[in-house]
Amino acid sequence: SDSHFPVPTSPSHVDYSLHYPHYFPSSGQINSSKKIQFADIGCGFGGLLISLSTLFPETLMIGMELRDKVTEYVKERILALRLANPGQYQNISVVRTNSMKYIPNYFEKGQLLKMFFLFPDPHFKEKNHRRRVISPHLLDEYAYVLGVGGIIYTITDVEELGEWMRACLENHPMFEALTEKELEADPVVKLLSSATEEGQKVARNGGLTFQAVYRRTTPS
Ligand code: SAM
Repeated sequence: SDSHFPVPTSPSHVDYSLHYPHYFPSSGQINSSKKIQFADIGCGFGGLLISLSTLFPETLMIGMELRDKVTEYVKERILALRLANPGQYQNISVVRTNSMKYIPNYFEKGQLLKMFFLFPDPHFKEKNHRRRVISPHLLDEYAYVLGVGGIIYTITDVEELGEWMRACLENHPMFEALTEKELEADPVVKLLSSATEEGQKVARNGGLTFQAVYRRTTPS
């Protein structure tokens, strides 16, 4: 249960030196003003973080994952990459947490530039829709931690969930869809279906995917 992992009481209590020792050499003596700017929610085995790490080498990113063993695996994976590639993969990390409860404990208002929701669990039954990681209520929280112009990326192979995520974003007053042109110009969009373990599985099986990519706006 949640009591088995520590939760920072506020974003200023997140120990960056544990996650990014290259940028924050010792705890308490933070000599960098860098903040986490990308968050991969339900990151699974970490494939997206690893792809993004070299694409945006100076951006701090974190994966949030509920499963303990999966989180430990991602930690090991990142440490191994750091060892094998000196100076690289210092900007990515992972934390075991329940993202549906603790996003505001990790990020300040307007801190994030990008949030990712790649192949989230579908929770098919109507009574379980409240357990979906995209919902009208949670979008309020995501709008809070995203800066104006920040982007939410979602993708799924479950058509009904894809429609649900798009509808939630479409109906929210603080998000607008990226245009086709903007989607084509964004190098991150190409990674949505190819970078993660779940995406690769869906691609191997020839499955269709449904994406929704929305920008945080100011309410009109
Ligand atoms: N995004 C990854 C990918 O595309 O390969 C993983 C997709 S997997 C189907 C969904 C992941 O979300 C699982 O690893 C699950 O443990 C995680 N998850 C589900 N609910 C969560 C929550 N409330 N907080 C954090 N992670 C969660």
